[in-house]
Amino acid sequence: MSGKLLAIENLTVSFDGFKALNNLTFSMDPGELRVIIGPNGAGKTTFLDTITGKTKPTQGTVHFKGQNLAKFKEHTIAKMGIGRKFQTPRVYLNLSVRENMGLAYNQQKSLLKTLFPKSNGGEKDDIAQLLEIVGLLGKANSPASLLAHGEKQRLEIGMLVAQSPDLLLVDEPVAGLTDEETEKVGNLLIQLAKKHSILVIEHDMEFVRQIAQKVTVLHEGSVLCEGTMDEVQSDRRVIDVYLGNQED
Ligand code: ADP
Ligand code: MG
Repeated sequence: MSGKLLAIENLTVSFDGFKALNNLTFSMDPGELRVIIGPNGAGKTTFLDTITGKTKPTQGTVHFKGQNLAKFKEHTIAKMGIGRKFQTPRVYLNLSVRENMGLAYNQQKSLLKTLFPKSNGGEKDDIAQLLEIVGLLGKANSPASLLAHGEKQRLEIGMLVAQSPDLLLVDEPVAGLTDEETEKVGNLLIQLAKKHSILVIEHDMEFVRQIAQKVTVLHEGSVLCEGTMDEVQSDRRVIDVYLGNQED
């Protein structure tokens, strides 16, 4: 698989004959921050579902770190190193910000513990560092229920990072956020991208412009075009199907 982190070939997903994904080919190198855009119904969520194993391909293959994912269940794929951040935050509202982060961190560490039963150093530091990265150290002791929507999103992105996945999948992280929070989430993703491979799905074009290095445009279940934000925005096909008649 020539060192690709993710390699998807001729992927088709049919729902009762309707092709939500249609012969889609896509790949990502380790360390990339990739953004996927596309109009409603383009197949973006189905695409993520297929990478995480929630939906199985009708045809075609998904390889992650060189392994064909076809025979693996969703939880196994997660353990292989694919973490997903869903659109709506899923934090424990009655726990503090620090406790939420600690839970995510320890999920990962319980694996390490079985390998190195004595190693216990640094947990507090690691959790504080994660909270610092997501900009929530000052709210570490607040119950998560008191966080604003954007802060919850950042907490959850941090909780995902705490589990050290090789690939982070992030579905519409700024939907419903204020401009200020949108920019903060953007800066967080840019910072995380220095050390992680991240695939972001997003609608908000301003946000995409802020974070994008390489953009892939999905349309009717296939890749319509791929390139820098400037290349994609000036592509006639993209203008016709998407940017030209954007709803929001
Ligand atoms: P996006 O996330 O880009 O808006 P989706 O992946 O959610 O697109 O959906 C792509 C297309 O597949 C849509 O037309 C949607 O109605 C259809 N679709 C998605 N999931 C199912 C399903 N479980 N059964 C039938 N059709 C589906
Ligand atoms: Mg969707």
